[in-house]
Amino acid sequence: MTRGRAPIVLKFGGAPLSDLNRVLSDVRGALSERAPVVVVASAREGVTDLLQEAIAHPRSRVRHRRILEKVRRLHPGLPDAGRRQLVRLARLLALLERTPHVDGPLSDRILSQGERVAVHWLSARLRESGIRAVAVEADHLGLITDNAYGASCVLFDRSRVAVRRGLHRIFSRGEVPIVTGYFGRSLEGRVATLGRGGSDYAASAIGALIGASRVELVKRHVAVLSADPREVPDARPIPDLSYEEAEELAQFGARVLHPLTIEPARAQGIVLKVRSLEDPHVVTTISPGRADRRNRALTVLPSLRLLRLRVPGGRQRPGVVAEVSQRLAAARVNLVQLYTSSALLCLVLEPGQVVAGLRALAPVTREAAAMVEGPYRVSIVTAIGDGILDDLDRIPASTVSGAEGFSATPRAFSLAVAESRGLSVLRDLHRALVSEVVS
Ligand code: ASP
Ligand code: MG
Repeated sequence: MTRGRAPIVLKFGGAPLSDLNRVLSDVRGALSERAPVVVVASAREGVTDLLQEAIAHPRSRVRHRRILEKVRRLHPGLPDAGRRQLVRLARLLALLERTPHVDGPLSDRILSQGERVAVHWLSARLRESGIRAVAVEADHLGLITDNAYGASCVLFDRSRVAVRRGLHRIFSRGEVPIVTGYFGRSLEGRVATLGRGGSDYAASAIGALIGASRVELVKRHVAVLSADPREVPDARPIPDLSYEEAEELAQFGARVLHPLTIEPARAQGIVLKVRSLEDPHVVTTISPGRADRRNRALTVLPSLRLLRLRVPGGRQRPGVVAEVSQRLAAARVNLVQLYTSSALLCLVLEPGQVVAGLRALAPVTREAAAMVEGPYRVSIVTAIGDGILDDLDRIPASTVSGAEGFSATPRAFSLAVAESRGLSVLRDLHRALVSEVVS
């Protein structure tokens, strides 16, 4: 029945898992397309936070007991295999209490238990409703990652054969695999998580590995909006995004998608659909783009610090930009943004890294007689959308006047403004680039 059709991947976040009717109707809907269906599940809402709390208090047996009890209560009606995962979690927490130094691999093993318990719980609920669901743990399936525990990346060439074979075997039995999101198995053979929110990335990676026709990400909130609705009340859903726009958005502080989610989908040309629990009719489709002026998204990163570096001879001095960024990198100072003109380099740093940044730049100021001004408190407002530079004429002059920096590509521009103006500039830009553009 399912032979020949490209699979569909459905990923449910922690909050959507609470709405079992919704999960069921989505799974039934996908199955009715007569394609194989893979479900990727996050941990139930709050569970990963609880496990992180346990790790943050490695000695606190009382707290661990309370956390275990909460996790248990979030998974009523667990089948035996799921109960074994709870026992395993209890053992891991006992191990944590005795371990002098908690390392990445141990943390990741503990964190992965949230998804493991969840897939057994969810499979049991789906089976009760007549869907032949089977729980699958991604590390056992053969989803291989690098060894960067806590922020690992999927290794596609190493994962492809096992993941395809494992899932096809399940499809051929007419069953629906319910796969853990969030983690895989490292090259060293240990559990490795993909970073918070990593189930999005796991879903798009699995979709890419098996040549899915589409990957649907179901989230609590209307997922992709023109701005954060807490900051811009008339923010509105964005119906279509190109891969590149979505990538800019994920990287630039909008907490909608795990930043690595887009890449695997783009590489295989897989359509991503982001849907929300709040309003099932709102869908954002991420696919090979076509420039559409309605796709504009704005973000603001507040509380940053800008340093102005005046270099005599400026950019005529060969290698000065490279030298500055290398010195910062060597001191592990993250350069959030860089604005340059011929004699000025404006560096934007996190507030906690200014002292380290100034120290790292001291040799440049000594040897090249450069002068540092600042730090100034700034916010960075970013506008994203293919062809965004065509819209510059819409922006009122007062919005940009007094800005501390501006940089642009055909896909996004960013503006550093005094921190106190961040929100009003965000709203001005939203009005000019989103609200006033008639669709
Ligand atoms: N459960 C993990 C987290 O909360 C992964 C995810 O939800 O995507 O970060
Ligand atoms: Mg979660």
